[in-house]
Amino acid sequence: MPTLVMKFGGTSVANLDRIKRAAKRVGVEVSKGYNVIVVVSAMSGKTNELVGWVEETSPLFDAREYDAIVSSGENVTAGLMALTLQEMNINARSWQGWQVPLITSSAHAAARIEDIPTKNINAKFDQGVRVAVVAGFQGISSEGRITTLGRGGSDTTAVAFAAAFGAERCDIYTDVDGIYTTDPRVENKARKLDKIAFEEMLELASLGAKVLQTRSVELAMRFKVKLRVLSSFEEQSDSAGTLVCDEEEIMESNVVAGVAFQRDEAKMTLISIADRPGIAAAIFMPLSDAGVNVDMIVQNISEEGRTDMTFSCPVDQVGRAQQAMAKAKDSGEINFHDLIADTDVAKVSVVGIGMRSHTGVAAKMFHVLSAEGVNIKVITTSEIKISVLVDRKYMELAVQALHDAFDLDKA
Ligand code: ASP
Ligand code: MG
Repeated sequence: MPTLVMKFGGTSVANLDRIKRAAKRVGVEVSKGYNVIVVVSAMSGKTNELVGWVEETSPLFDAREYDAIVSSGENVTAGLMALTLQEMNINARSWQGWQVPLITSSAHAAARIEDIPTKNINAKFDQGVRVAVVAGFQGISSEGRITTLGRGGSDTTAVAFAAAFGAERCDIYTDVDGIYTTDPRVENKARKLDKIAFEEMLELASLGAKVLQTRSVELAMRFKVKLRVLSSFEEQSDSAGTLVCDEEEIMESNVVAGVAFQRDEAKMTLISIADRPGIAAAIFMPLSDAGVNVDMIVQNISEEGRTDMTFSCPVDQVGRAQQAMAKAKDSGEINFHDLIADTDVAKVSVVGIGMRSHTGVAAKMFHVLSAEGVNIKVITTSEIKISVLVDRKYMELAVQALHDAFDLDKA
């Protein structure tokens, strides 16, 4: 029998009623002849509550116990989903990560999936089980400890199962009906995309469109898993959502697929550092050791052997970055005159595989922003993306102007 993976996020299993609704959708696929692997998240809010309990009990917690605790939310929903399906006379049972077993690295709270043996679940399918309900987000390390995959990790669980079982498709049920050209709360003309290429989705996910965990998209791209994002709220069960797929499957697309943004960025500039071999390493090693997620980096031309170095990071990491730089200065590893932090910036990016074959996207983006009087503070580009830092107060304006200029409201 063909296999389908259906993943339900926290809002889709938020209470018993929602679980019933989700189970009905599973029932529809079972009646079409699929064996279904259902991957569930914890009820919405549950994981946050568990994390809160951990932090209150032990601020410098043992990550192995953190994982033992925060993985428990998914155990509850997996069992409830299996029971609900049984009430519908569907042969279903639940699996926790260790029972599958979903084997991971031992990087607690951010474990990577190493293997998903299909033997145990397939043996049950052979005996007539039609639905394997799997607790998302969790696994077991080779040391035999419970691990979790990082926040939002159930998406990655789902895609990994789809790859391991050769599923026909991996459907991600969430509270939005698909992937949009930008966040509809910022631009009300945002349009739902029927299809989006893996690479575009990867950029959008890592740029802050929070619908899918970035790692799940990476996995889907690597194993060519057909990924569909759709709402579990809409009554019509065959609303198609958005298909995340190979770019060859997309006949014709806009040059730009979407506009992404990250509101809470900071721009930091080290003024007058020595321009010598090893200086970048001397700056960015301590930042990395301090857990600062550096994003954009710009080094100025130097004058008389000294230069300025600018980088961006999330605004809540500015304190850590300042500390790391002060420490590096005290120990003589680097030497700078000043460290200036601009904590009122946001990042706006346009993304599209069409940029590979179309020139002028950057020029158009800069022109649109200048026409709105928005000053660009830092620019970075990749093959299919252009990102700029702007003053946070202009972020919405920038997103709307770009959405308009690139005709994203039109198919
Ligand atoms: N429950 C976990 C979280 O909230 C995993 C997930 O839902 O994807 O991060
Ligand atoms: Mg999620």
